[in-house]
Parts: sequence; C-alpha cells; structure tokens
Amino acid sequence: MKKIAILGSTGSIGTQTLEVVRENGDIEVLGLAAGSNIALLEEQIREFHPRLAAVWSEEKAKELKGRIADTDTKVVSGMDGLIEVSVMEETEILVTAIVGMIGIRPTIEAIKAEKDIALANKETLVTAGHIIMPLAAENGVSILPVDSEHSAIFQSLQGNEHKAIHKILLTASGGPFRGKRQEDLLEIGPKDALKHPNWSMGQKITIDSSTMVNKGLEVIEAKWLFGVDVDQVQVVVQPQSIIHSMVEYVDGAIMAELGTPDMKLPIQYALYYPERRYLPGDRVDFWNLGKLEFEKPDMDTFYGLQMAYEAGRRGGSLPTVFNAANELAVSQFLKRQIKYLEIMEIIDDCMRAHKNIENPTLEQILETEAATYDRINSRR
Ligand code: NAD
Ligand code: MG
Repeated sequence: MKKIAILGSTGSIGTQTLEVVRENGDIEVLGLAAGSNIALLEEQIREFHPRLAAVWSEEKAKELKGRIADTDTKVVSGMDGLIEVSVMEETEILVTAIVGMIGIRPTIEAIKAEKDIALANKETLVTAGHIIMPLAAENGVSILPVDSEHSAIFQSLQGNEHKAIHKILLTASGGPFRGKRQEDLLEIGPKDALKHPNWSMGQKITIDSSTMVNKGLEVIEAKWLFGVDVDQVQVVVQPQSIIHSMVEYVDGAIMAELGTPDMKLPIQYALYYPERRYLPGDRVDFWNLGKLEFEKPDMDTFYGLQMAYEAGRRGGSLPTVFNAANELAVSQFLKRQIKYLEIMEIIDDCMRAHKNIENPTLEQILETEAATYDRINSRR
C-alpha cells in the first residue's frame, strides 16, 4: 500500500485525488487537511479512515471533533495542524491541493521530512521555487507535477535528455474571454468569469484562467520544475484543450501529451509515477475531432501574462508580489468589491511599487505578501 496525505482534500483537486484512491484501492490515506467544509471532510474521514485531519479554523476543528468522536481520527487545526499532516512519519507522498501561498510552509516542512510532493499548489512554487527546488534536491525528494500542462511536459520529457530541451510549448485554452478586448470586459462579474469552457476547477483558478494570470503562474511554475528560463516557455493557445503541452528539442522534434481534459490523469500519473495505470473515461476520437486550432495569446488584453513573464525574468520577491496581489484581488473580485479589470491593474500597481529583494528568505517572502496586501487594502 502506498501511503499519502492530502492538503486541500475537499477542493476540486483534493476530491479528484480521493476518486483516484477509491478507484485503485491500493493507496492508504494517512492525513487530510481542509479549510472549512467539515461536512465533506467528515464524509471523507468516514470513508478513508485517516489517522489525522486538519481544519484551518480552531472553531470548526472543535465542531469536527464532536462530529467524529466515534472514530480514531485525531483532529488538529491552524498552520501547526497543516504542518502536522504534511510530515506524518509513514507518508510517502504529500498531495498539495491547497490553494494559494499558504502552502509554502507545509510544503517546505514536508520536503525536510523527505516526503515526495505531488504538487498542484502552483502558488507555492511561483513564490518560493528558489527555496523549494534546491531543498528537494538536497533531501532526495521528487516534485511530481499535478498541473495538467506540467504533467504533460513531464511526460514528454520521459526518455529524453533534459539538456536537449530547446523550448517548452505551454498550451492554454484561452479561457471564456478568448477573442475579447479590454472594452468588452468592463462589466464582467464573477458569474461570467466562473464559466470555463473545458475544465471544472476551484473558483480562484477559474478566475485566474479567465485573466490568463493562471498561464502566467504556470510559466513561472515551469521555470522551476524544468530548470528553464521563462523566455524558453512559449504560450500557445489551443482552444480544444486536447494537447496538454509540448516540449521542443534541439533537433526540432516535438513531444506532446494529448488526451481529453481530465485532471484524474495527471493526479494518477503523479501518484504512481513511473507506472501507468488504467483510467476509466472518454478517449480522444480523432475521426470525429475534426481539427485542432492554435493561436498566439493576446497579451495586450490579458497583460497579466506579460507581467508574469516580467516577474519570472526578474525573479527575487517580484513573483511573490505578482502572486499575492492576484490572490487578494481575485478574492475581492469574487466578493464584488472590485471590477474585473482592476485585478490586472492592482497587480501592475503593486509590481511597479515594489523594491525587488534578490533571493528572499521565507520570512521575506511572507513579509512581501503582507506588504502587498497592505498596499491593496489601503486603496479601499
Ligand atoms: P479549491 O478551491 O477547489 O480547493 C482548495 C482546497 O484547499 C479546499 O479543500 C480548501 O478547503 C483548502 N484550503 C483552502 N485554504 C485552506 C487553509 N487555510 N487551510 C487548509 N485548507 C485550505 O481549489 P482547486 O481548484 O482544487 O485548486 C487547488 C490548487 O491546485 C491551486 O493551487 C490550483 O491552482 C491548483 N490546480 C488546480 C486545478 C484544478 O483543476 N482545479 C488544475 C491545476 C492546478
Ligand atoms: Mg494548468
């Protein structure tokens, strides 16, 4: 039995990870952590019998304790609780399916405890990649990508020499507003932006996909996962989301991974790597597919992508500013406190105002996050 723990078990990636566990039947879930949905967490505890469950708020943790008093699962809370779930002695793989840079500390502690990481939580790598990647190498830990594009790249790298990579072709669906101009986006509300054409995901990443900030985060994520410069990563819009990303080698050969859009494939691949297992679901039918289309991304309208390239090129604490500004702006947009286009304006404003710190420590990253939040909150 493979032993895993999951941060963010009640979310989109978390629940799909548990589906993969259920369908395979040979993985033991030792720990689960979630934000506030204790009703679903209780169901998961009753089905998977983890030894440990973490809930972010202390109050909700107390409530959960009462509800599952008849089980053997211990309940913990807060950051200490998240970390406790991340470093459980027997865990082999930690699935980081939590959303946002709150994942940094638990991920670092898990790596120090020599857990392999199945990484969905891209915000952590974007802001602290310069700490996480060397630490993983030092501890002999594998960082296995769960993000579909990065899994596709990882799959396309199998059996090839890393040094022969010429560039990475990171595909994007273009999101619900592909083809729109800024003037078409003035009155966009959360409901419009939460409609993704091909993928069903958590709220934050769905908004990020609509602004293409998600693709920007993924460019920086690819830089850290595959040791390339951001300018070696070319974003290609592929509206059908059938090609999940590609690698172009120095001899001009291009390797790609294709499939129907289903996050269970990259999740299962990360959990069983290098083994490939049967996965039920639709298959690509080329006879009926018709055509695959390709476009250049519109980085004038969706300039969040352009700002991500700048943050990735300059590095230091700037990617933290890019990410933190986006995290808060998106949550304000979801609460209807700001307009859609203000998300990108806020990121731009925070990046311009920031004095970059080269090679920031964990404390400096968290201070930069707090300073970015203060700047945004003082606007209102
Ligand atoms: P989601 O909002 O559906 O789920 C987030 C999970 O994190 C929930 O279980 C929530 O309870 C938990 N959480 C949030 N704050 C917490 C806290 N303070 N303490 C403990 N738990 C907390 O998000 P998602 O769509 O599953 O995305 C998760 C991560 O995976 C994100 O980084 C996202 O960018 C990445 N990702 C998601 C997809 C997808 O298809 N959903 C694809 C690629 C990458
Ligand atoms: Mg992705």
